[in-house]
Amino acid sequence: MAHPPSVDRLARSLRTHSLPDPLLVEAARTAIAEAVLAHGPTGVDPAAVTARAEELIAEQSRRLLQPVINATGVLLHTNLGRAPFSLHHDASYSNVEFRLDQGTRGSRSEHAGTLLARACGAEAALVVNNNAAAVLLTLAAIGGPGRAAVASRGELVEIGGGFRIPDVMTASGTELIEVGTTNRTRRADYERAIATAGERIGLLLKVHQSNYRITGFTETVEVSELVGLGQPVVADIGSGLLDASCPWLADGPPAWLAGEPAARQTLAEGADLVLFSGDKLLGGPQAGIIAGRADLVALIGKHPLYRAVRCGGLVLRAVQDLALAYLDRRGADIPFWHMATGTVAELAVRARTIAGAVPGAHPEAMLAVPGGGTLPGVTIESFGLVLDGDHRDALRQHHPPVIARVQDDRTMCDLRTVAHSDDVGLAAALAGLGTAR
Ligand SMILES: *Cc1c(COP(=O)(O)O)cnc(C)c1O
Repeated sequence: MAHPPSVDRLARSLRTHSLPDPLLVEAARTAIAEAVLAHGPTGVDPAAVTARAEELIAEQSRRLLQPVINATGVLLHTNLGRAPFSLHHDASYSNVEFRLDQGTRGSRSEHAGTLLARACGAEAALVVNNNAAAVLLTLAAIGGPGRAAVASRGELVEIGGGFRIPDVMTASGTELIEVGTTNRTRRADYERAIATAGERIGLLLKVHQSNYRITGFTETVEVSELVGLGQPVVADIGSGLLDASCPWLADGPPAWLAGEPAARQTLAEGADLVLFSGDKLLGGPQAGIIAGRADLVALIGKHPLYRAVRCGGLVLRAVQDLALAYLDRRGADIPFWHMATGTVAELAVRARTIAGAVPGAHPEAMLAVPGGGTLPGVTIESFGLVLDGDHRDALRQHHPPVIARVQDDRTMCDLRTVAHSDDVGLAAALAGLGTAR
């Protein structure tokens, strides 16, 4: 037992950690203060203080944004950033708003937006921060103060994170005219609302029930039935499936996608605009896409809110690369689709290889899910590793952290959501459990 070490000296001794100095100093100061408080200024154990400071630094490091191995089997895990995506390029300027052909100011939708529009058969498209922003901006621009939007009571959804259609409607200044009932809405309900509210109506809003299903005695109005009512039809399809026939996949659409609305088909049915997320089934970075009629897209791009929700060059570049992959039909180059469509046989081979190196880990068939508030109840056959007991805490401490799930007191690591290149990291994390046990 001795006097406490100086904050400076302790902080310097912690420099082997990769955090910047001010954070090391803070950890040192906290650890010393705690020890003095507990044992008095002369009863401090320097080794215990160092250990406590290291613990604080480890906690701080784990709070940093970093790559993780998603072994949950949830392909679009909202807490893990939804679709896996990366962008590698060197520091540089880019022609984000500059026409290289004319040397004049350009528009932010010329690259990523134009290519995405092409990929889903739209006249034009705009990329914004996320789909929530796409909905808000579209409502504000086509609806807005003094105008109303008609929506079915069966589609006044909450997506999670507090995104509720009626609240977004209010925030955009648009009056919400609810029609139909929770389980049944007919074309005549929309017709009646239009007859009553007439001039005030700015759009008919269709919202995909992304994360829940109403079954039984139900009736909904398809986009094709809304077309022809004399109002712009805007469909928030949520998931971001670009084309139901999945031309970017050699084997066509997987069976589990059945029934999911797609941008190309919704536009072909006659929707004036479709809105969707960039990081759900589109498999890109966080973004929201507004695609459809060129005049409406231009109108939306001129609204003052656009400036507040537009994307920067990093995201636009990532969305552009993604759109190019779709147009090139290179589904295997889109990490989400690569993971979602890998065969169970491939996953089983990987699971057996890992199990061979990790005593106590057993290869087993399991079920993955699309996740991300899409396709509720849908499962995707998968394969992974199972260990007795709950090891989630220990796996999260590993570098890189492994996020697993537990079922019936068994830890499940689903390889459907683990990149092949991460098998080594996963095996090391699992092997580490063996020594800890
Ligand atoms: C997910 C979803 C949203 C929100 O999209 P974000 O990209 O998360 O902002 C909005 N509407 C529907 C129907 C959705 O499924």
